[in-house]
Amino acid sequence: MKGRRLLMAALAFLGMGAIANDVAAESPAGMKMYVFSSGRLHLGKGLLANFAPMEPKIEIPVGFFIIKHPKGVVLFDTGNNDKIITDKTYWGPNYDVLEPNMTPDDAIDVQLGKIGVKPDDVKYVVVSHMHLDHGGNVAKFPNSTLVIQNDEIEFSMFPDEPFAGSFIPGDTFALRSKVGTKTPGAVKMVRLDGDMDLFGDGSLMVHRSRGHTKGSQMMIVRLPKTGTVVLTGDSAYFRENVEKNILPNLVLAYDPAGIAKGYEWIRAVVANENGQFFTAHDPDAFKALKKAPEFYE
Ligand SMILES: [Zn+2]
Repeated sequence: MKGRRLLMAALAFLGMGAIANDVAAESPAGMKMYVFSSGRLHLGKGLLANFAPMEPKIEIPVGFFIIKHPKGVVLFDTGNNDKIITDKTYWGPNYDVLEPNMTPDDAIDVQLGKIGVKPDDVKYVVVSHMHLDHGGNVAKFPNSTLVIQNDEIEFSMFPDEPFAGSFIPGDTFALRSKVGTKTPGAVKMVRLDGDMDLFGDGSLMVHRSRGHTKGSQMMIVRLPKTGTVVLTGDSAYFRENVEKNILPNLVLAYDPAGIAKGYEWIRAVVANENGQFFTAHDPDAFKALKKAPEFYE
């Protein structure tokens, strides 16, 4: 943020303060970001990075994030549905393909409990996409507002071939209200066809990024001390996907050109704001992150 403040000071000096204020993000004091784990999956690296080997399987984390902002708590992604801790049939054949390692400590309420956050404390749930390891617990926040792309609601229930495998219809269906209710959603929703500045101060920007799925989205988090962090969801699996322009396997690439555009966007935001990006599944990068209850401020 230092560079941005210097720019604002320079523009103010030149009598351009009004313009500077229009473009500047205000990261409120006390804003913090926490990193959580929803367990681990095992799969061939070649699924996530073309030309990487499919055997032996590698272990990847399943990360998700909380941002505490003075105007409310924001959850970015919800991990694997807690049901699979005790019921492997909920994922059907995906369970044996992905070999999840998810313990009771990885349940989302237990994870959020590490920083004293209860589901009802969450104002916005922003879901990067509805694949089983990101949208699993979206329905566990009945008093929050879900921020999701319209395309992703539709696509997660009726995906095109060959993209159906990674969606669990039950995860999306749990968002529907009871039969006969006038409002369709069981939870409040902001159904986007684009981007959203969550609190109007530029500190949390939801960015539509069709690519990995039809309605994928990323989020820019602008923290007061850490600066800019892009949460990629699966718009980027590993750091190397972004750094070397490596696409995932076709079954995980609804719009390959859109994925490439997403990488370009990540690189531009990181370069322009001297920032960084956090993915959900990069084993080495995730290991290096501070985990809740530690935080980024
Ligand atoms: Zn994922």
